[in-house]
This record gives sequence, C-alpha cells and structure tokens, in this order.
Amino acid sequence: MVFQQSPFTNKVFGDIEAKSLLSIISNQTFQEYWNIPKDKIEVCKDCEFRYVCNDGRIPLKRDDEVYYFEESCTYDPYKN
Ligand code: SF4
Repeated sequence: MVFQQSPFTNKVFGDIEAKSLLSIISNQTFQEYWNIPKDKIEVCKDCEFRYVCNDGRIPLKRDDEVYYFEESCTYDPYKN
C-alpha cells in the first residue's frame, strides 16, 4: 500500500508495508509543504478558517515568495 501526501497529487513517498511511517514522513520531499502555513497563501491568509482548514491542495510559489493555489476554494472569505 503506497503512501500519498494528498489526493491532489500523484506523488508517492513509499510503501507503508515495506517502510516505517516515520521514515516515509521524514523524507525531505515529503516535508516540502509542511512549513507553509495558510498565512503565507493568497486568499487563505485572509480566511477566518485558515487555522482549522484541512485543505489538501498543493500550493505553488510565485517569484515574490508568495504561495497560491491554481484552483479556487469553494469558500470565498471576502464575501462572507
Ligand atoms: S476555507 Fe478555503 S480560503 Fe479558507 S483557508 Fe481553507 S482553502 Fe483557504
């Protein structure tokens, strides 16, 4: 059984029947997105749910170091 980071990516980080979960999640590539809080992502940084949101989309980084998502969330924090 393979271990995917998110249903929004096809990246596979290991077989959890062959490796320990700790070794899989310790992988530098796996941890690439761990330290990107919603506070650093466009739109999400203004959302009142940013600290509880479990959105699994993969953020992309612009040249100015700001992250964004290619697809919009179904919730618009600017209209609520
Ligand atoms: S609900 Fe949507 S806008 Fe708010 S933090 Fe989650 S993904 Fe971002």
